[in-house]
Amino acid sequence: MKNTMTVNSADQTMQLGEKLAPFLQPRDLILLDGDLGAGKTTFTKGLAKGLGISRPIKSPTFTIIREYQDGRIPLYHMDVYRLEEGGGEDLGLEEYFNGDGVNVVEWSKFVAGELPNHYLRIIFKRDDSKGDNVRTLTFEPKGERFVKMIHEMIGD
Ligand code: ADP
Ligand code: MG
Repeated sequence: MKNTMTVNSADQTMQLGEKLAPFLQPRDLILLDGDLGAGKTTFTKGLAKGLGISRPIKSPTFTIIREYQDGRIPLYHMDVYRLEEGGGEDLGLEEYFNGDGVNVVEWSKFVAGELPNHYLRIIFKRDDSKGDNVRTLTFEPKGERFVKMIHEMIGD
């Protein structure tokens, strides 16, 4: 199965997020990994739009978590880059993962030990040899539902 996709602009990255949104249901977990500026928050903006959220999405880099309740289902947007080791417990990550909304986690490697078994991981990579706005997204679905979701979303 094809599991990578190349995009050429921030808008295209947002459109992918928007396209994913209709498939999502409460307790779904989306992990967004890749360097600073790779496009994780940009993708989340599109996803939020697809959920019908109209409040502007701000990076949760300093707040760690931001909650948006004005869409089809709640969105919990986390950036755990600044979390101390094991800090996911204090944050109540598990409650979010078992909660009533979609969970999006940027920098998931910092909470690798605290993740459930099923999630959709998307890795964002810049390729400077191809220009400033090019990103390759690699989709790593864990669990049957997410495998199917990616299949429907990006096809074979
Ligand atoms: P991250 O959350 O991964 O640190 P951001 O989404 O906050 O990254 O920032 C990505 C930056 O790169 C934004 O300024 C965005 O406009 C720019 N950009 C350029 N091309 C792309 C692209 N193809 N996808 C996503 N962002 C892009
Ligand atoms: Mg970010």
